[in-house]
Amino acid sequence: MKAHDGMYIGGAWRPAAGQDVIEVVNPVDERVIGTVPAGTAEDVDAAVRAARAALPAWAATPPTERAARLAALRDVLAARADEIAETVTAELGSPLKFSQAVHAAVPIAVAGSYAELAATYSFEEKTGNSVVHHEPVGVVAAITPWNYPLHQIVAKVAPALAAGCTIVVKPAEDTPLVARLLAGAVHEAGIPAGVFNLVTGLGPVAGQALAEHPGVDMVSFTGSTAVGRRIAAVAAGQVKKVALELGGKSANVILPSADLAKAVNVGVANVMSNSGQTCSAWTRMLVHRHQYDEAVELAATAAAKYGDRIGPVVNAKQQARVRGYIEKGVAEGARLVAGGPEAQREKGYFVSPTVFADVTPDMTIAQEEIFGPVLSILSYDDEEDALRIANGTVYGLAGAVWAGDEEEAVAFARRMETGQVDINGGRFNPLAPFGGYKQSGVGRELGVHGLAEYLQTKSLQF
Ligand code: NAD
Repeated sequence: MKAHDGMYIGGAWRPAAGQDVIEVVNPVDERVIGTVPAGTAEDVDAAVRAARAALPAWAATPPTERAARLAALRDVLAARADEIAETVTAELGSPLKFSQAVHAAVPIAVAGSYAELAATYSFEEKTGNSVVHHEPVGVVAAITPWNYPLHQIVAKVAPALAAGCTIVVKPAEDTPLVARLLAGAVHEAGIPAGVFNLVTGLGPVAGQALAEHPGVDMVSFTGSTAVGRRIAAVAAGQVKKVALELGGKSANVILPSADLAKAVNVGVANVMSNSGQTCSAWTRMLVHRHQYDEAVELAATAAAKYGDRIGPVVNAKQQARVRGYIEKGVAEGARLVAGGPEAQREKGYFVSPTVFADVTPDMTIAQEEIFGPVLSILSYDDEEDALRIANGTVYGLAGAVWAGDEEEAVAFARRMETGQVDINGGRFNPLAPFGGYKQSGVGRELGVHGLAEYLQTKSLQF
């Protein structure tokens, strides 16, 4: 157990204003592994002031120099990849291999992508008799969740810094340790004091104070739709720019011409990955009714293999929530073909990899985001029916389409109301814009579109 002190504000670790702490718990064995300060409005104010003070110089720093600092950050993160993976495994509970391959590797790739983009992006353009300057939005508040704890932060910090913004980060209460590690890396990378600031604390206290602070020009939030809605309301009151990455309930549409076994196996793996705590997970599998029984059998067999291979969910509350959804699925008439609500192990916040068959589109488990290792399989009659079901939720973050040939899959994907679609198992691309249609969010992260979020234009006419 380690008591971590201080907040990273203005380029140094400063004592927190208050005495309260947040306990960090290892979800595998439920042991307290550390504490961090529970920041208050006072800490937030100090951090925002530091970010404001640093803004003019950082905004005026040539993009190539900002690129060099981001490249240095990428290198420090790469040198500390093992430490990152171990830290995420300790506070999130994900298996070490997954932490190495995803939780450590993806932020390094994203930091690297913005080092390149900062150097090559056109911050100035000509149109007719005007020159348009792309200028930083200003001081950014970044509020992030625990599911990909470092990635979610770096996906905001790297583009914001590339754009010339300064930032205050409020990480999720469950996973503050890797955020502290990032602050150390920022320091080592030589990023000037006040450009990056970190305040740990509770959402309704530190998070809210940050979103409400008049010295913040933009709030970039990733988390639940419920909190996102509140943040958007607060931002609207002060006419602040807001970017929201929210929940999802993505559809994995398997068309009759697809390789069924492959589509089902990859689909199950997608949902079980990170213990189902992925906003873009394909939690609804849509299968033609003629192939339904076969798909259900394949999925049940695939899910059984994940029994002791997936980690726990993040905390006891989340475990109870996911189990509650599984009980609700049973109560509403869905058929359990793998897993179930009962505890898998005595210790740790584990949930059995669970698959439901005979799910209908109106059921709670087909509509609401569960955020655990739970897959619902639905049947459709024809393509129009599949499209209606796929688009029939308030969310629109991601999805997948499988078909015998790509053109058929693309034609279907173009009709889906969602921000990204993987065609026949297409890989994650850290340069492609990521974000939601409908209630899955506002704005885009990653790549050049993610950089543009942190810029505003000024047109000069000649
Ligand atoms: P959450 O909304 O409870 O918390 C997210 C962050 O908001 C945390 O840092 C929390 O402390 C803070 N917060 C909570 N209340 C606040 C308030 N009143 N004011 C300001 N900040 C506040 O979400 P979570 O449970 O940590 O994360 C899971 C959710 O995140 C899921 O719904 C998931 O889909 C979503 N998510 C979305 C994306 C995406 O890119 N669209 C990515 C990852 C996670």
